[in-house]
Amino acid sequence: MAIANNEAPAKERSANFLEEIIQESIAKGETRVQTRFPPEPNGYLHIGHAKSICINFGLAKKYGGKCNLRFDDTNPTKEDVEYVDSIKRDIQWLGFEWALERYASDYFDQLYDWAVELIKKGLAYVDDQTQEEIRLTRGTVSEPGKPSPWRDRSVEENLDLFTRMRNGEFADGEKVLRAKIDMGHPNMLFRDPIMYRILHTEHHRTGNKWCIYPMYDYAHGQSDSIEQITHSICTLEFDVHRPLYDWFIDALEIYPSHQYEFARLNLTYTMMSKRNLLKLVKEGAVMGWDDPRMPTICALRRKGYTPASVRAFAEMVGVAKRDNVIDLGKMEYCVREDLNKVAERRMAVLNPLKVVITNWEEGKVEMRKAVNNPEDEAAGMREVPFGREIYIDRDDFMENPPKKYFRLSPGQEVRLRYSYLIKCEEVVKDAEGNITELRCTYDPMSGEGSSSDGRRVKGVIHWVSAAHALEAEVRLFNPLFVTEDPFDTSNGQTSWEDNLNPESMVKVKAFLEPALKDAPVGKAYQFERVGYFCADTDSTPENPVFNRTVTLKDSWAKINK
Ligand code: ATP
Ligand code: MG
Repeated sequence: MAIANNEAPAKERSANFLEEIIQESIAKGETRVQTRFPPEPNGYLHIGHAKSICINFGLAKKYGGKCNLRFDDTNPTKEDVEYVDSIKRDIQWLGFEWALERYASDYFDQLYDWAVELIKKGLAYVDDQTQEEIRLTRGTVSEPGKPSPWRDRSVEENLDLFTRMRNGEFADGEKVLRAKIDMGHPNMLFRDPIMYRILHTEHHRTGNKWCIYPMYDYAHGQSDSIEQITHSICTLEFDVHRPLYDWFIDALEIYPSHQYEFARLNLTYTMMSKRNLLKLVKEGAVMGWDDPRMPTICALRRKGYTPASVRAFAEMVGVAKRDNVIDLGKMEYCVREDLNKVAERRMAVLNPLKVVITNWEEGKVEMRKAVNNPEDEAAGMREVPFGREIYIDRDDFMENPPKKYFRLSPGQEVRLRYSYLIKCEEVVKDAEGNITELRCTYDPMSGEGSSSDGRRVKGVIHWVSAAHALEAEVRLFNPLFVTEDPFDTSNGQTSWEDNLNPESMVKVKAFLEPALKDAPVGKAYQFERVGYFCADTDSTPENPVFNRTVTLKDSWAKINK
């Protein structure tokens, strides 16, 4: 019996390689699982970070462990509290709670003391070369580097100089502290890596206490060790750093955290480096970090993505050991699946064409009953006003339709969603021949779903009463880049800026049913037959603005199923 109970339910997927690693360490007697998410507060989190958050917090949760949030704030020139606050908000929005909130800067004293310890062990020295000279003397993969003329300074001299570095006696760039490892090491990172540099810059947390700041490779592993992180999970590009991570921990004889790497998330039509995203914001190519076209978490939220859909996406793409590029359609698939379950339905016409129902009494209004969410009975019903003049979508009418066209055309009947059958009697045009209005008649007996004589009508279209319509700006979003790879230069483009999509945001004037009047910002609705939408943060009662979260059409699932 016990064995049967331990069996995974049939639907559960098999363990990914990180889960296997954790299961192995548990089997070997490890009693804790402690992970951390270590963002640098130099920008807003993006969907790639969301994946890392889901992995780190998700693994801790799954194995009864904890996950810390640690800000890797070792570079004061680029960091800011604005970013710290946004990062915390985004993680909470995704539905995760950190055990401890920590900052690498909390450990500056300890890191300094450990650096002194390494100097005393003869494993670190102060170098007077510039960072440029250091770079030029590192050698190449095939040639060893050149030792610095300052490499063999005495411990006393190093201790004195390092103290004076800390005390601010030297200018930026005048000296660095380097680990003394091996200038001929095949792993270039071992060729006496820089541990500290001088930066007379105020830090957003430590103020002016420090003018020397630790480098990533020295700060990161030691911070993990201080927090007794059992599984330090990061992206693949850090795998060459792992031996150095281990080297510092061994040399200092401190708690041995271990690093494991997974493939970073790449998405088609999407750029994810914070540096370039910052550029988009600064150059005004987008409205800000939370512009719904950005891949940031705050932008996805503004666009109408739900936390559950982002988590489902992270789960769907899984954890890989090799770099790959994920189809943006998968993310859209996940949000569509989730919104289908939770979003209430409304009617909205994005490309309006007026229809006058000539046999409907002038001024008469009838409230039609509409289902809020066919996927959720508890969502109930609402009333939608119907009158003599309505708007339908221009795409739902064709003057010369092909065979098997079941929407509206001259002489043909169509069902209005939740309302009557109408028949097009006359097409009104302006002097240039543009269709300005349709004149139709309705079948008064068809209000309850059938027609007066049992005839069958296939097409159903949505509509909005003209007298009651809420006029709104609707923003339709398309990928920010026209090329699958934003960095593609194969067609003579000189940079990613050339690949920006001029049609990435299209604004249209739309007519919405009046029930959308006080739609709360961010609340998801399905505009029937059109897509999923939510009110934007720019929306006001006078000027409602809605974002298209995603279209209804499921192109990815069609291709891949
Ligand atoms: P960027 O290059 O976009 O600025 P970063 O790696 O510098 O990202 P950090 O703040 O240093 O950003 O990263 C925090 C954590 O998020 C790291 O563990 C990093 O590996 C992870 N991460 C960053 N980008 C991705 C991604 N595209 N996919 C998965 N994890 C990512
Ligand atoms: Mg980084």
